[in-house]
Amino acid sequence: MRTVVCKFGGTSVGSLERIENAARRVISLAEKGDKVIVVSSAMAGETDGLIDLARQISEFPNEREMDILLATGEQKAIALFAMTLRKLGYPAVSLCGWQVPIITDEVHTKARIRKIGTQRLKNLLSEGYIPVVAGFQGVTEDWEITTLGRGGSDTTAVALAAAIGADCEIYTDVTGVFTADPRIVPNARKIEKISYEEMLELASLGAKVMQIRSVEFAAKYRVRIHVRSSFEEEEEGTWIVPEDEIMEKVVVRGITVDTKESRITVVRVPDQPGIAAKLFKALGEAHIVVDMIVQNVSHEGYTDMSFTVSRTDAPKAEEIVRKVAKEIGAKEVVRDDRVAKVSIVGLGMRSSYGTAAKMFEVLSKNGINIMAISTSEIKISCLIDEKYAELAVRALHEAFIEDGEEIKVENEG
Ligand code: ADP
Ligand code: ASP
Ligand code: MG
Repeated sequence: MRTVVCKFGGTSVGSLERIENAARRVISLAEKGDKVIVVSSAMAGETDGLIDLARQISEFPNEREMDILLATGEQKAIALFAMTLRKLGYPAVSLCGWQVPIITDEVHTKARIRKIGTQRLKNLLSEGYIPVVAGFQGVTEDWEITTLGRGGSDTTAVALAAAIGADCEIYTDVTGVFTADPRIVPNARKIEKISYEEMLELASLGAKVMQIRSVEFAAKYRVRIHVRSSFEEEEEGTWIVPEDEIMEKVVVRGITVDTKESRITVVRVPDQPGIAAKLFKALGEAHIVVDMIVQNVSHEGYTDMSFTVSRTDAPKAEEIVRKVAKEIGAKEVVRDDRVAKVSIVGLGMRSSYGTAAKMFEVLSKNGINIMAISTSEIKISCLIDEKYAELAVRALHEAFIEDGEEIKVENEG
């Protein structure tokens, strides 16, 4: 008998009707003999609404209080989910993160899971209950409530599946992982199987269908994930699996765009050893992740340095950078929130050439200027003006995926 963790995202539990639809999916698995653990997100819009409320009080709400506030979204959803299962004749018990327990570190609003207690879940399953676990939240060793970052219910689900040795199904509002966000590119295709590594890049680069950390967990513990629609019952979704299960490696598996970053430029920094270290150390200490970094060629002992951070961290990052800029004698600090990062991702890039040139050519043909570039073995990202974001994704999708069949790399050695 298999155990399966079924995670429902916000849209999938967005109303009482949808919760009932989700509950019926769970029941049909239970009736086939599966032991099911449900993980639920907050109802659609709930988390955004709570964040809005907090921001009306303060631009930087206290992060501990923020977690106490945000955790209520999932708490409400799991209670309603469990009540619905009971109404339909299935014994269910809702559990907040601390009741499982899901133990995390102390980093409020982006905590990492450290440990999961499985005994209570196992007892509930063996007594015939369906546990309904709150996604996105945990508790520290000191009983402080934490949350796992936006989209964190995916991580709750994968971590639970890893801890219990269960299968993992992610039910969402699209039928799987696509070659680009289907809301931006109508011709996007559903991907049948994708490797952890490619999914990790897509998630890191803006495909919000799976939270990054959930894919990290899946890769580490080799959890096979099935991403599928919570509405189309029969339709097979996308499998996220180890690379050795992927027979066909294409150069470009998917295209993403991320409009949630900001660029910060420190103008006229003295070009001396230790300056970058000072700047980025201060950001690191504030738990701010820095993404693309560009340092210009120096002129007369001075240079400009630009980097990107997530837009939510940008005001805090700007404040920190202004302080350091003063200390190091930089001329000024400029923040630009109107940038977008477009990326192409694929395992086949390891063994193909000319891909970067083709990407730059597509952007230039569309009159799009590139502000920064970053690459890894299996991705290329370009920072561009936000107003061209959708145009860039569509053009790249057309060039690499719709017209790109001839550059498939079959089983590269
Ligand atoms: P949930 O609430 O179920 O967690 P999310 O909104 O977090 O769902 O993620 C699903 C959304 O991700 C889709 O509605 C889609 O617009 C977006 N998305 C972005 N890129 C992709 C992609 N490559 N494939 C599928 N969906 C994507
Ligand atoms: N409710 C949280 C969010 O909106 C977590 C999640 O949905 O996964 O980010
Ligand atoms: Mg999500």
